[in-house]
Amino acid sequence: MKNKPILNLVIPCYNEEEALPITRSELDRKMNELIDNGLISKHSKVVLVNDGSRDKTWEIIEKLHKENDMYVGINLSRNRGHQNALLAGLMYAKEHSHISISMDADLQDDINVMDDMIKKYNEGADIVYGVRNSRKKDTFFKKFTAEGFYKFMGVMGVEIVFNHADCRLMSKRALEGLSEYNEVNLFLRGIVPQVGYKTDIAYYERNERVAGTSKYPLKKMLSFAIDGITSCSIKPLRMITSIGFIILLLSFIVLIYSCIMKIIGNTVSGWTFIVCSIWLIGAIQTLCLGVIGEYIGKIYNETKKRPRYIIESILD
Ligand code: UDP
Ligand code: MG
Repeated sequence: MKNKPILNLVIPCYNEEEALPITRSELDRKMNELIDNGLISKHSKVVLVNDGSRDKTWEIIEKLHKENDMYVGINLSRNRGHQNALLAGLMYAKEHSHISISMDADLQDDINVMDDMIKKYNEGADIVYGVRNSRKKDTFFKKFTAEGFYKFMGVMGVEIVFNHADCRLMSKRALEGLSEYNEVNLFLRGIVPQVGYKTDIAYYERNERVAGTSKYPLKKMLSFAIDGITSCSIKPLRMITSIGFIILLLSFIVLIYSCIMKIIGNTVSGWTFIVCSIWLIGAIQTLCLGVIGEYIGKIYNETKKRPRYIIESILD
């Protein structure tokens, strides 16, 4: 068993003035409980990242820090979105802790899952994914769209953990691995599984927001899904080639059909030639687009400059 690790609990906050005071009392209780139970070091911190909020969020964070040095505040210069705010906090945690756990400011993820996560870390996992085991408290619409989101991502070739949002534990070395991914279009759920190492899952119930409103309305969720796919997968480009082959197959069928029609004499003159040309040229064009797509996919993967490997251990 590893000795009491320093934990950094990373929480991105955007316009969370209503939720923070409630979240704060829960965090105080939970952090003290973890320290008293000897699960984490007393030097552990809560890292609150203010993502360019327009309300009093930063003032509240400043006050929290003044009252209790367990609270660390990071103020971003403007709103950069959830993923970037989270990354800013995680990169701070990489330098200042042994393990980081990320959570939302609204405590929809049950903070009591932290015990289980730390237990699994002690058993040897470098990354522990928090997974919602039910969505009883989500509205039907949120449940439907959110679960559809995970399934669609899978179909589009993005490797993600089903029903896992951004609530996860990462060890220092997993964060170091993550920091080698320099891409600007960040989709953490898709990148973290790429880092590797031993992973585990901790299940929890998803609650309602403690206060305030969701910062992820449907419009943002859709653009998040598109971002996720285009940041992590070249499958949409591959699909062009498949479509090209399907059209090619269809044009053979059309070819046979129009030849039969011609033989029967059921056509006006020139019809066979035009119909066959349209289908064949369509197929050739789509296939050519597919070839260009393959190369663009390669260029796209190269520009991301992802690490080609991360070494876990060497015996020599
Ligand atoms: N958030 C952020 N920047 C943004 C939008 C959201 O830092 O531009 C934070 C927000 O404060 C919260 C977390 O991201 O801590 C998740 O947002 P929310 O709970 O509104 O999303 P939902 O749970 O409804 O999907
Ligand atoms: Mg939420």
